[in-house]
Amino acid sequence: MILILKPNIDDKTREFQRLEKHLSNFQNIEIRVHKVQGAEQVLTEVYLIGNTAALSLEEMKSFPGVDHAVRVSEEYRILGRHKDDHRPNHFTYQGVKFSQDNLNVFAGLCAVDSPASVEKMMKALKENGQVCTRMGAYKPRTSPYSFQGSGKNCLPYVFELAGKYGIKVIAMEITHESHLDEIRAALEETGNPTGVMLQIGTRNTQNFELLKIVGRQQEFPVLLKRGFGITLDESLHAAEYLASEGNQKVVFGLRGMKTNIGDPHRNMVDFAHIPVVKRLTRMPVCIDPSHSVGGRHRSSDNILDIMHVTAQGVIAGANMVLVDFHPDPSLALVDGPQALRLNELPLFLEDVRVAREAYEKRLALFSKQENTVAVS
Ligand code: PEP
Ligand code: MN
Repeated sequence: MILILKPNIDDKTREFQRLEKHLSNFQNIEIRVHKVQGAEQVLTEVYLIGNTAALSLEEMKSFPGVDHAVRVSEEYRILGRHKDDHRPNHFTYQGVKFSQDNLNVFAGLCAVDSPASVEKMMKALKENGQVCTRMGAYKPRTSPYSFQGSGKNCLPYVFELAGKYGIKVIAMEITHESHLDEIRAALEETGNPTGVMLQIGTRNTQNFELLKIVGRQQEFPVLLKRGFGITLDESLHAAEYLASEGNQKVVFGLRGMKTNIGDPHRNMVDFAHIPVVKRLTRMPVCIDPSHSVGGRHRSSDNILDIMHVTAQGVIAGANMVLVDFHPDPSLALVDGPQALRLNELPLFLEDVRVAREAYEKRLALFSKQENTVAVS
């Protein structure tokens, strides 16, 4: 059960102590207090873990200080959707809203290789009205002999250039807790010119210790990529690790599944799961067409497969697109073959706009229907 306290009530107040005293009468109920930073205020949520069957929802709601109470089903207690659950499906970071109802594009470098590439990328983003990007500094690679990313040395220039070109949020993968400290230190050193969304890659989806560390801080939101060889349920439980440690600012990323059944694409595109994740959880859903498709295959209709699958994801309600670009893909140190070129950015963004408009038209169409389609 989750008790959402009134805005002015927290665990220091008399109302909370009364509640705590009442709950101490029930054995096997553990209390966990979470502070959730909203756009305007901090809300206190109290998670009751254990055998809460003996508690009445009505009684808990009647306690002074309790705004509302939600009985959670077993699955995804914090990030999941439950009956009569009115908790938000959005958060704001650096003035950018991440929601199940909107869409943000993160076009950028798979891996940072030089200040010149970063500057060209950022400049193109600004010219195209973009405020978010992706910049990989720490790269998990199959071979230990491959380029491992520019690491902490590139952070100062990446952050400074982001500030110069008005980029507010950078998605950046971390593979170790020390990277979090390095990012925090570099942001501070450069005067916080931008923000970072920490990315947990598909190879680390079930790195539970890393998830706990990232979950224990609320400064940075997290993009959790789906594990490429595990079930959706397992990946959603991984997201729940972040929330159970205190960070609910989580975006869930679909990036394709590892199997030869998806050939000739690098991974089997899994964007059909966008509406599934949106109905099971409150997380905004990101798609990564680059790592799903993995190459510049072009169809007989003259449209790149990367653009086709992006449109498929956006028309199904995706909330974020993470996509690889490079000023000169032939020089990219990681994933050059799947990178789009800077002169393709306007076309890509226009295609996304067309697909989003189509999704919004679909929304309007279905909002007029009175459940003519049976919902199971
Ligand atoms: C990436 O986005 O750079 C990346 C390595 O993605 P994934 O973890 O999905 O392979
Ligand atoms: Mn990559």
